[in-house]
Amino acid sequence: MPLDQALLDILRCPDEHHATLDYDDAAQTLTCTQCTRVFEIRDGIPVLLLDEARPRAAGQHETS
Ligand SMILES: [Zn+2]
Repeated sequence: MPLDQALLDILRCPDEHHATLDYDDAAQTLTCTQCTRVFEIRDGIPVLLLDEARPRAAGQHETS
């Protein structure tokens, strides 16, 4: 189920810059437009925790 646009509008990166986030509907992730951290959406709930975020470029193990 896609996230509500009104919710997306108010979500910000939890880092000190509080940048906006890019929503990836297919991957169910939110990517920070500034630090490019990737935040997962689990069961429809964005996990906006720096400890849970992963960098976009490194550490990917995609099978595609
Ligand atoms: Zn950020």
